Amino acid sequence: MVKVHCERDGEWSAVAVEPYGDLSLSPAAAVLNYGQGIFEGMKAFRTVDGEVVCFRPDQNAARFAEGAGRMSMPPVPADKFVEAVKKCISANRDFIPPEGKGSLYLRPLLIGSGPILGLGPAPSYTFLVYCSPVASYFKGGQLTPIDLVVEESYHRAAPGGTGSTKCIGNYSPVLKVQLAAKAQGFSDVIYLDAVNNKYIEEVSSCNFFVVNGNVIATPALGGSILPGITRKSIIALAKQKGFVVEEREVSVEEVIGADECFCTGTAVVVVPVGSVTFRGEKTVFQEGGIGVVGQALYDELTGLQSGKVQDKLGWLENVPEGFHE
Ligand SMILES: *Cc1c(COP(=O)(O)O)cnc(C)c1O
Repeated sequence: MVKVHCERDGEWSAVAVEPYGDLSLSPAAAVLNYGQGIFEGMKAFRTVDGEVVCFRPDQNAARFAEGAGRMSMPPVPADKFVEAVKKCISANRDFIPPEGKGSLYLRPLLIGSGPILGLGPAPSYTFLVYCSPVASYFKGGQLTPIDLVVEESYHRAAPGGTGSTKCIGNYSPVLKVQLAAKAQGFSDVIYLDAVNNKYIEEVSSCNFFVVNGNVIATPALGGSILPGITRKSIIALAKQKGFVVEEREVSVEEVIGADECFCTGTAVVVVPVGSVTFRGEKTVFQEGGIGVVGQALYDELTGLQSGKVQDKLGWLENVPEGFHE
């Protein structure tokens, strides 16, 4: 793993690669008491040409800096962030799965590690990057559709809150809702906006898209939705393919009458929605199969990440062998 230290108003230390292991923290660490922490999720791949690449790390760096500001933490400079991620990838090169089999999932973490008893920002911070190899989500070469249920009692985020930040406190509260949905046979829930309880926001950890003919709509970012990098990438690829992409309010009614729906995120890439259940009524899309638009965008994005499709937009950052040495 990679570790970098920062005093509140001080300089960031050099990016150091060290063995993966436990951290030593004061019981009064701000992250433990007040949840002062943010994370990222990103991936590195082996390409068909035998290169190792990281997908759009500049985008994660920018979102990480935004998030740090929201949580009163010093932002990690973008070049430092990318250097740390690339060093983590390089040091773990042997653990990156072969092309097509999976990827190396990276978890950058910024925590208020210094002690503070009264409510206030930590006196010092730790920036970490660790990683794990992960398999591709699809089973037997097929994307597996997910069954979603619309959640009307609980909300993930509210206007003016922290929904657009990957802050650590946003994720445990969704578990209660997610576990209850799973107990009823659903994969996850669709959250609605906290003001009208009417418009779709997103799923627990992925963004939502709805397709009608040549039009692809996704909820507009308004501060309570996480600005996904996969979301942004899929919007760009869909426009390139000639689709009309609309970022706006998306109602449950629109989803129920749609051709197909899919979700996006670094972990799942693009996952088709097999069904949506609203107030006990289940709407099945293409008999639980895979929508053609979602599949085409999945193929395009994974083709790009594997080097099969030319990287015209410069989304891949090469990680040379021995970069961490
Ligand atoms: C991370 C995350 C996403 C997806 O973002 P990507 O950058 O595409 O991985 C969507 N929703 C939530 C709540 C998330 O935490």
